[in-house]
Amino acid sequence: MNSTLKRSSLVALAALTLAACSNGPTVFRPNTQQATGNVQGLNTPVRGLPQTTVALRWQNKNQIVQAATSGIDLFGANASQRTAKARVTAEQQVQLRAMGLQVTPIVEARMDDRAGLPTGYMTYGQMVEKLKALAAQYPQLVTLEDVGDTYLKSTGQAPNNDIWAISITNKNVRTAKPAFMMTAGVHARELAPVELAMKIANEMTSKYGKDPQITQLMDTREVILLPMVNVDGRVEVEKGNAWQRKNMNGRGIDLNRNFDSCWNYKCLNAPSSWLNGLTSPGSETYSGPRAASEVETQAVQAMYTRKPNIRASVDVHAYGEMFFWPLGYSEKTIPEAAQYKAIYQNTFARHGYSGGTSLELLYPTSGTTDDYGYEKHGAFSMGMEVGQSFRPSYSEVEAMWNTTRASWLGLVQAAGTVQLANPRR
Ligand SMILES: [Zn+2]
Repeated sequence: MNSTLKRSSLVALAALTLAACSNGPTVFRPNTQQATGNVQGLNTPVRGLPQTTVALRWQNKNQIVQAATSGIDLFGANASQRTAKARVTAEQQVQLRAMGLQVTPIVEARMDDRAGLPTGYMTYGQMVEKLKALAAQYPQLVTLEDVGDTYLKSTGQAPNNDIWAISITNKNVRTAKPAFMMTAGVHARELAPVELAMKIANEMTSKYGKDPQITQLMDTREVILLPMVNVDGRVEVEKGNAWQRKNMNGRGIDLNRNFDSCWNYKCLNAPSSWLNGLTSPGSETYSGPRAASEVETQAVQAMYTRKPNIRASVDVHAYGEMFFWPLGYSEKTIPEAAQYKAIYQNTFARHGYSGGTSLELLYPTSGTTDDYGYEKHGAFSMGMEVGQSFRPSYSEVEAMWNTTRASWLGLVQAAGTVQLANPRR
């Protein structure tokens, strides 16, 4: 890139930053003068076409915003390194290069594995058995609920596919307690978050009365875990389709773009290019026909309504080591921003995670699980990308848990300490 281009992109970014600081809906406007790539066609259905995994590197934010909103299957982004990966067709590789990104074909480890899950992971069925075992063993702590049918169950295609929520608290302490809710497995191929949720369930039950911090948390907080939201997609992964991300309704809907929170950027005047990936059914970020169209989305949204004591929540994804706070499409400072930064600094910043809104760190998102908790319920709602691959070995998951355990407990603690600008109660 020559210096003139470099300067103009800096000026554009400065203008964008200024625009983002003004009042009203915040829109990150791509610098269309530099949008040399033909984004038309990037959102064409790609299922069935040969795909290559590529490493991406960008120089300026406009490039990653263009790439991410185009509808390609982008993952593993690293905000500080300005790198990501994508699974793309030959045509999409050409288009990404035209946008100015560096594109290098690579092999994504373990993703051609048709064997289902790596050794050590729980299947969906095993997870349900474990949850039932915890409920039986710790009745004074655990409430286990089937909180909804998946798409395949609701259409008579998979009678056992239920979405489960485990709530853990000392039931003998009857005063109202602030709740922390964690959702995981919204994206099927992201394996570590499910295991982390189950490790928290195990920790909160088996160490009650033994570990003073766990005992204090269970006496003063409620922990609600939905360890596997996208059960249908996960079962597909277990059958050997390692790349499955979306739910199993038709060609699939990205549940993490389907929530009733600024769905399809309806709350702001977003550039039309931002809608490319959201509106094409073939895209991995297809947001569905309408807000909260999917039964899996509805099950999570209903938790907030049924449990008004949810004061903090986190939706955990993989991968990339990032800690997000609302709003995904905005660089505007929300009233709780300083608290988010403080909690981030005291928890996942210690593990090298990047922190900020999705747009600050990378690119805009809308209709996400974490934005919904904040916007519609006033909860201290966070998003995470954990680990460094979709399918880490189980020993890597255990190492991740051992390293980050105190930070997860810190998030649970925060449910009782955060000051919310718009609390539901
Ligand atoms: Zn995800």
